[in-house]
Amino acid sequence: MDQGNKSFNTDSIPEPESSLARVRAIFEPTSVAVIGASQRRGSVGLAVFKNLLDGAFSGVIYPVNVRAHSICGVRAYPSLTAIGDPVDLAIIIVPAAQVTQVAREAGENGVKGLIVITAGFREIGEVGLAMEDELKAVCQEYGMSLVGPNCLGVINTDSRFSMNASFARRPPLSGNIGFISQSGALCTAVLDYAARKNIGFSKFISVGNKADIDELALLRYLHEDPETKVIMMYVEDLRHGFEFIDTVRDITGGDNPTPIVAVKSGRTAAGAAAVSSHTGSLAGSEAVYDALFQQSGIYRAQTISHLFDYAVAFATQPLPKSNRVAIITNAGGPGIIATDITMNVGLTLAKFSQDTTDVLRSALPATANVHNPVDVIGDAGVDRYRAAYEAVLKDENVDGVIFILTPQSMTDIYATAQIIPALAQKSGKPVLTSFMGELDVRDAIDFLERSHMPHYHFPEMAARAMGAMYRHFKWISRQHLAELEVAPDRTQARLVIEKALASGKTYLGEVEGNKILAAYGFPVLPSRLVGSAEEAAVAVRELGCSVFKIASPQIVHKSDVGGVRVGIDTEDGAREAYDDILRVVKGNAPEAVIEGVFVQQMAGKGVEVILGINRYKVFGPLLMFGLGGIFVEIFKDVSFRLAPIRHNAARRMVRSIQAYPMLDGARGGEPCDTDELERCLIFLSTLATENPEIAELDINPLFVHAKGKGCSVADCRILLDIDRMN
Ligand code: ADP
Ligand code: MG
Repeated sequence: MDQGNKSFNTDSIPEPESSLARVRAIFEPTSVAVIGASQRRGSVGLAVFKNLLDGAFSGVIYPVNVRAHSICGVRAYPSLTAIGDPVDLAIIIVPAAQVTQVAREAGENGVKGLIVITAGFREIGEVGLAMEDELKAVCQEYGMSLVGPNCLGVINTDSRFSMNASFARRPPLSGNIGFISQSGALCTAVLDYAARKNIGFSKFISVGNKADIDELALLRYLHEDPETKVIMMYVEDLRHGFEFIDTVRDITGGDNPTPIVAVKSGRTAAGAAAVSSHTGSLAGSEAVYDALFQQSGIYRAQTISHLFDYAVAFATQPLPKSNRVAIITNAGGPGIIATDITMNVGLTLAKFSQDTTDVLRSALPATANVHNPVDVIGDAGVDRYRAAYEAVLKDENVDGVIFILTPQSMTDIYATAQIIPALAQKSGKPVLTSFMGELDVRDAIDFLERSHMPHYHFPEMAARAMGAMYRHFKWISRQHLAELEVAPDRTQARLVIEKALASGKTYLGEVEGNKILAAYGFPVLPSRLVGSAEEAAVAVRELGCSVFKIASPQIVHKSDVGGVRVGIDTEDGAREAYDDILRVVKGNAPEAVIEGVFVQQMAGKGVEVILGINRYKVFGPLLMFGLGGIFVEIFKDVSFRLAPIRHNAARRMVRSIQAYPMLDGARGGEPCDTDELERCLIFLSTLATENPEIAELDINPLFVHAKGKGCSVADCRILLDIDRMN
């Protein structure tokens, strides 16, 4: 597909290879200077230096301090220049006002990477922002990469480096999760929590203000990193749009995929001025981020605790190859809850083979449930659990197991935990556990976590995590649909847009809107703009059964002022409707300048849907699809994607609304022409991508006719706004 001019800013994005090298300069140094290292208790300068020492960094460490002779017993240097030997990485902890100067000195001495821990930059306002820009300029001048400013630092647990370049209180265990956080404070809490749960990290990074190295560069790096199996992200804002999607979907779903789980706090608005369109009022920064994550194949967690819950499953378990789950429990209630959630997240309960059922029947008491969820009954000892667990793991109809235990008086908790890891590993299937309770199950949970078996306090969370893994499996094994042809008449569309802008017109109704849509391939209905009752009669004679609509730049919602008449099919009826519509509208909207009456052929039967565009700075145009009509704002049953989209995304957009069965022939209805609808979404995407002046657009309704009969655009409005262009 021709994606035209992508409407985002690409100046600051380095080429993938150099981007990797730039991140390596941060994580993989052989010598580090800590500028602002200090002996003073409670200082960040001491914490960072001590962490490097205690972490047994594999290279050389140089403390730099103007006054001190030594820090923690290591000889100190008065300046970076005074070190004399080459330094790869400088960690900067000096006051904000001195940072740029120090950075310059680092550049002069051939330093390749900077971690600026010092705060007091863009987060404090204009003065800080100016300093940050200056710092960035210095880094660019010397080709240094920069993490921060205003960050907690970075940690690389890879034994070849063993670098804890942070002031975190507690060093992480080494493991295979890469963690990227936009909040430094959260990092320390996460490390504390992770330590308790035996969760280890490969790389850990607090990005701070992201003056240079940001999530995108880090994701590329972590994807290449053999130590990192899954990436966890805490995000407050992202500053890339489509290129983020383009890169990240390869990371999560290309060759050698790395799953990414992210939590996004709702702190920042994407900053669109929503005006009169339906799309404008439904879209918002949440919709933008949801789309961004969806399209990138990032699994979005709702809370920080879920972030861990998913990441641990990805980090330790193989993916389920399909969605058939077996649940084993010794209590009915938890089994039922796990079953409910299992079904809710797109999984299903496995139907066991005859062999499995036979084994279960012989191993379990008569009161046990030998079907899924398997209930081994409250008095089950290890043997019953083992028999059931072994049997279901072996069953070819089972893709994953949720293992639930409640501590009852007969339960041998620890011994039951012990049977889990080895069999799970042998089976190649994911097993998630939930030993419910707190005190009695503590030792068993510790054992499971130490054995890298994901554990969840409640079984519903285990089911959610299994759902996330299955979704990822579907993502990485998805088929790519053949792309659809788009051959727009760009000149025609540009002509209409430029003419409108030249005359200061920013709101376009159906008269101009249809011309633009037609140029992009949309199926518009034949129509005429008429200025008299007689012309109206002629129009109806030519077009057949028609709809009359008031045409006025001031009237955005035509029905609200009595400006729409449907089903006009005689010439007399046309004359009458013409006079009537003018009279009613003049009464309801006396100020409006009326350009005439828009006579449009009646669309055939079909389901009314809405298609829309809402443009955001940085992210570009957000596309919307949903069920049309006047209730769209109430039901909010819509899906969003950032443009440009391809055929796969168009199809998912259509299928992800709750009302999709209505388009698919629910309740004996006729299936609609969703192929043509998908094409319309591709037209919409192309139109949005190629015409940055279009800030908002609503097509409401688009009629989707029966299969093979296409679609018809039956209303549109476009808002042009050059201030919303990137
Ligand atoms: P507005 O949204 O400004 O009130 P519309 O042009 O959407 O006005 O018309 C209102 C409703 O009339 C539409 O939602 C649709 O149900 C119906 N309608 C409009 N144009 C047509 C058409 N050409 N064929 C069939 N129905 C139409
Ligand atoms: Mg409408």
